[in-house]
Amino acid sequence: MLTVNKDNRTYFKSSLLENTKGLSHCFTSRVGGESRGVICGLNLGFRVGDDPDSVKSNYMHIAEDFDFPYKNITAAKQIHSTNVRVITKEEAGCGVSRLFDTFEADALVTKTPELPIAVFYADCVPVLLADASAGVAAAVHSGWRGTVGRISESTISVMKTLGATAENIIAAIGPSIGPCCFETGGEVVCEFDSDLCTNMPDGKFKVDLWEANRRILLECGVLPQNIEVLELCTMCNSDMLYSYRTHKEQTGRMGAFIMLKKD
Ligand SMILES: [Zn+2]
Repeated sequence: MLTVNKDNRTYFKSSLLENTKGLSHCFTSRVGGESRGVICGLNLGFRVGDDPDSVKSNYMHIAEDFDFPYKNITAAKQIHSTNVRVITKEEAGCGVSRLFDTFEADALVTKTPELPIAVFYADCVPVLLADASAGVAAAVHSGWRGTVGRISESTISVMKTLGATAENIIAAIGPSIGPCCFETGGEVVCEFDSDLCTNMPDGKFKVDLWEANRRILLECGVLPQNIEVLELCTMCNSDMLYSYRTHKEQTGRMGAFIMLKKD
C-alpha cells in the first residue's frame, strides 16, 4: 500500500495497481477537503446532509490530484445489490457532474479510456479490478451483503465479456471494516465460511470480509500474487477514515476511483 499526500489531502493506493501501466486509481480518506461540521473532510456523498458545493469541490480536488476528467467521473446509486453496470460514454458523469442522472448498481465496469468510475464506502469493502492489457477496469462496492452475493464474481464475469481474462486481472481490496472490528450476529455469520468467523464472548461473531473477498477473487481465477489487501480498517482509523459504524448516521463517504488512461 502507498500513502499519497496532495496539499492537505491524504489518499491510499495499491502498489500493484500503481505498477500497472495504463491506469490511474486511488482510495480516498476523509483527510483534507471542503466539507464542514460533523462530516468535515473529503466527503463524496451528495446524500448525507452535506453542502453540495463542498462535495463538488471535493470531487474537483480529486480530479485535479489524479488527472481525472471531472465531467466524466461516474458513480451509481448504491443499493447493496449485486447489480453490475457497464459504463460507456453515454453514462459519463452520472451521479456526479450529472448529479440527478442516476442508476442503481453496486459495481461499475468500463472499457472506455478517460472515464473514471467510482464506488463509495464508509466500512463496506471497495474492490478495484483491472485487466490493463485488455483495457477493462472495474470498481466494486462489496459490503457484507455484496460479499455474500459474490458481487466481485459477477463483476469479473462482465469484465470477461469485454475481453478480460482472470489471470491478467490485478485486484485491490481497499480500506474498510477489518476482521478486528466487523462484529455481527449469527444470521449473517451463517453466510460465511466458518474459518472466517471468530466467536466473541458476548455471543456475537467477528467476520473477515477482506479474506472473504480475496477468496472469491481466487475462486474466479485471479492469481494470488495479483491481489493486494490494503489491510486498513476504517473503524481502527476513524480519525482519518469515515466509518459508518463509528460515526453512525452522521458520516461521509469515501471513494475508490479507477480510470483507464488514453494510450
Ligand atoms: Zn479494526
